[in-house]
Amino acid sequence: MDLKPTPQEQAFRDELRQWLAANQPPPWSGATQEAGGKDAHTEYLLAWQRKLYDGGWGGIAWPKQYGGRGASLIEQAIFQEELAAADAPEVIGVIGIALVGPTIIAAGTEQQKNKYLSKILSGEEIWCQGFSEPNAGSDLASLGTRAVRDGDHFVVNGQKIWTSFAHLAHRCLLLTRTDTAAAKHKGITCLLVDMHSPGIEVRPLRMMSGDSAFNEVFFTDVRVPAEEVLGEVNGGWPVAITALANERANLGAGLYAMFKRSLDALIERAKGPRPGRKPAATNPLVRQKLAQLYLELEILRLNGNRALTKLMKTGMPGPEGSIQKLFWSEYNQRMTQAALEILGPAAQLNEFDGGAWAYQYLRSRGNTIEAGTSEVQRNIIAQRVLGLPRSY
Ligand SMILES: Cc1cc2nc3c(=O)[nH]c(=O)nc-3n(C[C@H](O)[C@H](O)[C@H](O)COP(=O)(O)OP(=O)(O)OC[C@H]3O[C@@H](n4cnc5c(N)ncnc54)[C@H](O)[C@@H]3O)c2cc1C
Repeated sequence: MDLKPTPQEQAFRDELRQWLAANQPPPWSGATQEAGGKDAHTEYLLAWQRKLYDGGWGGIAWPKQYGGRGASLIEQAIFQEELAAADAPEVIGVIGIALVGPTIIAAGTEQQKNKYLSKILSGEEIWCQGFSEPNAGSDLASLGTRAVRDGDHFVVNGQKIWTSFAHLAHRCLLLTRTDTAAAKHKGITCLLVDMHSPGIEVRPLRMMSGDSAFNEVFFTDVRVPAEEVLGEVNGGWPVAITALANERANLGAGLYAMFKRSLDALIERAKGPRPGRKPAATNPLVRQKLAQLYLELEILRLNGNRALTKLMKTGMPGPEGSIQKLFWSEYNQRMTQAALEILGPAAQLNEFDGGAWAYQYLRSRGNTIEAGTSEVQRNIIAQRVLGLPRSY
């Protein structure tokens, strides 16, 4: 593991910092995103993604011919780190960039790559991930949404749930069942679906953080052209695994810098004055909590470097991504829990730091569920990293 930046990587970082200093928009100060429609916050985020793309910062490690920069995976990691360190706005097309694009690059036809990849990077097309169903989450291969061949189309009927961004999405990476007689992993087909097709209904769900970022999606006789199959008919399971591995590998990138900002802010708050009381940081229990959070964050950083080194050797994210996913999601819950304890009841108010602590505490609850629960990550680590036998 040699993490000393090469002159090229240092030049990349410097160029990016200069570009961000000149182009990063002022932070968004509006209320939480409303469900449905392109509200002002959505427009703000779309404009930011477009600016990144036009500036040559879309798809850092994606091939140039599809609108990417053709840079290395290390440079991609530097990019995510710098964006997080600069507190840049989130990238709204994250599902397309983190998960759908890499899967199309790995499994798509040339026609699919030309049709979709550059629009994913520019934000012209927002994607959602139609995997989970009411009866298929951790046991994803039990999914029941049917796709039946009818001439040169598939006809889709069924329901997805927890579909992030479906209310904004132009397209969906959809897992369907095409063979009910085959073993459950063998009868799945992955389709690239136009979300404006007749027969698709999106119903937003509200999260406890107040966001309406995910949805139920209903499919009634939705016709999908056969050329929109990604991979092979009945060969959708390996495609789904590629998508999930990329989701785990990519969604965690840049988190170290983000958590570091939060922890630094918490430490400063704990050192600060409190009316009629000593600073919280004089309390031994608070000091121990902060020291523990600091060292866990260092573990996160080092583990991230290890995962990146492995990724550079193989080119594809492996099961080790589950270690990072498990660690960061539980870390965020420990940190936000500690923050509310240290800052006291006032931190639950919207008036306190713009409601950031209360929001982060509530949103972090979903971190150990989305992209695979902690229990599922532990199973993956046990079986695929440690080589332990399956549990009974
Ligand atoms: C914020 C958020 C965003 C999401 N976005 C999307 C999205 O865009 N697209 C999408 O398709 N899905 C999305 N999901 C859904 C997510 O992938 C599922 O919620 C997750 O896979 C768990 O499935 P489930 O909710 O059906 O729970 P279940 O699978 O029913 O699990 C219930 C409990 O049982 C445990 N469990 C299940 N199986 C095992 C096992 N074998 N061993 C031990 N314990 C087990 C689980 O860990 C969990 O605690 C999102 C979820 C959240 C919270």
